[in-house]
Amino acid sequence: MFTQTRSPHIAHVPMRATVARIETLSPTFRRFTLTGPEISTVADNRLDQRFKILFPVPGVGLDAMPPGDDWYLAWRQLDNSVRPVMRTYTVREVRPEAAEFDVDIALHGRIGPASAWALDARPGDELIVCVPHTGFEGDIHGGVDWRPPAEARRILIAADETALPAVSGIFERLGPEVRGTAIVEVPHPEDAAAISAPPEGVRLIVVARGADPVGSRLVPTVREAAASLLSAAPGGGAQEIEDVDIDQVMLWEVPHDLAGNPLGHAPFFAWLAGEASPIKELRRFLVSEKGVDRHSVAFMGYWRAGRPEMT
Ligand SMILES: Cc1cc2nc3c(=O)[nH]c(=O)nc-3n(C[C@H](O)[C@H](O)[C@H](O)COP(=O)(O)OP(=O)(O)OC[C@H]3O[C@@H](n4cnc5c(N)ncnc54)[C@H](O)[C@@H]3O)c2cc1C
Repeated sequence: MFTQTRSPHIAHVPMRATVARIETLSPTFRRFTLTGPEISTVADNRLDQRFKILFPVPGVGLDAMPPGDDWYLAWRQLDNSVRPVMRTYTVREVRPEAAEFDVDIALHGRIGPASAWALDARPGDELIVCVPHTGFEGDIHGGVDWRPPAEARRILIAADETALPAVSGIFERLGPEVRGTAIVEVPHPEDAAAISAPPEGVRLIVVARGADPVGSRLVPTVREAAASLLSAAPGGGAQEIEDVDIDQVMLWEVPHDLAGNPLGHAPFFAWLAGEASPIKELRRFLVSEKGVDRHSVAFMGYWRAGRPEMT
């Protein structure tokens, strides 16, 4: 069992979680409602708050994971044969009064341990979640990468299904003054049912790729939408950006200073998240072709086709 004494200096702590309910949201998405003795202390930051799930090792479970807040080191020191698989997900709705929170998982077959777990899971199944907790006394938990400059009133969001839960969380916290476009690529047209309604000033475009490669609908749709968005918020001139080898390193840049404040001061902010290859292409398009200030573009490779998540 985990200790119930939580360090006020550690932002994310491990907790046991039990599947309370499973709901099918769309052909691709299942919502898992998680509960447990400590789940009422999960911080409700919404936006794109990420967290880690440790999935049970088949035939071994989760018990090899020692208790304590210093979970990452403890996890790394475990022998491969008993180390739970760790993957990254997004906190959806948090209901502290019911000691529940939701995570929406995109099913992509049995090729990954997380997706395989999601296909087979039943109420009562257990996980370990490493989540931001309310007992933390620091300023920000970390793991929220929606950090637009205060001046940003015009936004562009581009995402595939893995970032759809994050887009929903962002929609739920956006002010009515924000204008812009969000483009989300999903496998099936019916997956649009899994996303929250955007605020009034934001146009949501959901594109379905069917059996075509990931990004094949996202990239052209963003290019088209950017034409009108950027004529209203022009960039400062094309900039050279360094090449990132997305097969070797994680594609991830969220411009902010050491205190977590955004670096950009432009009225435009772009947030790009999903499979690394289209996200890399879209970043280059915005910064090198359209001249958007690189400090106004956050880009995150949430996964890489053909590779397990780098943990
Ligand atoms: C910050 C962050 C937040 C995230 N939030 C969510 C979330 O809320 N919901 C969600 O569903 N995902 C989310 N993801 C993506 C999720 O972590 C990855 O999809 C993860 O790789 C799934 O693990 P797995 O064990 O199923 O597959 P892995 O073992 O990691 O990969 C096995 C194979 O599956 C492929 N693969 C992985 N994901 C997909 C996919 N979605 N479609 C097709 N092929 C895939 C890999 O390329 C690899 O070939 C998030 C990722 C990040 C970084």
